[in-house]
Amino acid sequence: MTLFFEHESFPQRVRFGSGQAAAMLTDEIARLGASRVMVIAAPAESALAEDVTADLPVAHHHHEVVMHVPVETAARARATAARHEIDLLVSVGGGSTTGLAKAIALTSGLPIVAVPTTYAGSEATTVWGLTEGARKTTGSAARVLPRAVIYDATLTLSLPVPMSVASGLNALAHCVDSMWGPRADPIDRALAQEGIRALRIGLPQVTANPADLDGREHALYAAYLSARAFSSAGSGLHHKICHVLGGTFDLPHAQTHAIVLPYVLAYNAPAAPEAEQQIAAAFSATDALDGLQQLRKRLNAPTALREYGLNRSDIERAVDAIVPAVPVSNPRPVTADDLRRLLDAAYSGADPASFAYGRGNKR
Ligand code: NAD
Repeated sequence: MTLFFEHESFPQRVRFGSGQAAAMLTDEIARLGASRVMVIAAPAESALAEDVTADLPVAHHHHEVVMHVPVETAARARATAARHEIDLLVSVGGGSTTGLAKAIALTSGLPIVAVPTTYAGSEATTVWGLTEGARKTTGSAARVLPRAVIYDATLTLSLPVPMSVASGLNALAHCVDSMWGPRADPIDRALAQEGIRALRIGLPQVTANPADLDGREHALYAAYLSARAFSSAGSGLHHKICHVLGGTFDLPHAQTHAIVLPYVLAYNAPAAPEAEQQIAAAFSATDALDGLQQLRKRLNAPTALREYGLNRSDIERAVDAIVPAVPVSNPRPVTADDLRRLLDAAYSGADPASFAYGRGNKR
């Protein structure tokens, strides 16, 4: 084996402990010397946030959180932070909430302590996203990476099973796309493999017994690994597709990832045999796509984009937007026609195996 690669890690404290969020937050805020904290939480998570931040020097609670961070929402949150002379942001919520904290940090440099309540993983990446009109812009900046992340699985117990499944598959998509992202390296692939393994164990536990902490802890642990891998490897084909679908057609983020993933895996796997084997091994399966599909079946995962707001007439516009974004690192060339077929299959929920290889001609 010849190893030749570059890998960059960013400094971030990570604390894990079920039922420990309040105590750990107090520690981390003292460590960072903050005295005027802005707590960001969507209305649905505000009670949870008030509980875990009760002992902090909170100057303001902010509740306006919108998925994909519209620029107007970001502008209002930035102005609010300035008006209250905030010196640290605490985000309690899913990727939308972390995303808003990142949008504030992007222009102000304020430190963030993130308390994730879904498996989106934004807390462990340097990636920010903002949406203007129907156009989502993303970028990467070290200053938006939370200084500390507190993982407390008890905070995810209220996440409904369908959202837990979709969010867990969003983490799985980070892992799979990290196998062939533009900067993918062996460390990213190792993190991704362990992420897939933890999701394969944790997600069925979450669906079988949503109140079980063990499954939730596995999923949160995987969310972190998946995001670290993704942040380092960069967006692969899967993320480029979902980015357009989410930003242009306002489709729900996690469900879109959950649906599109098997099609991208089916498309790329034949051209990336080493990655395919690594993914299969992590699923404890002989074939990566079979491993993914077996897990999706156990989880009763979402299957068709048409059920989440995509119209068939949107596909052409999506293809036009995705074609120029296809990463050159993708293991297989991607034409507009390939994308049209992929999106058409994901729109209707066609069998990914038949989509990739032709019905009855799986290998
Ligand atoms: P989300 O944050 O919008 O949350 C989805 C829903 O779950 C919301 O209704 C929320 O109120 C609810 N919810 C969250 N936690 C809950 C809990 N514990 N109990 C009950 N309900 C709960 O969705 P998401 O999928 O976590 O994040 C999606 C956003 O994050 C998108 O905008 C996406 O682009 C972004 N994202 C960014 C990165 C990155 O690296 N920058 C990575 C992943 C996702």
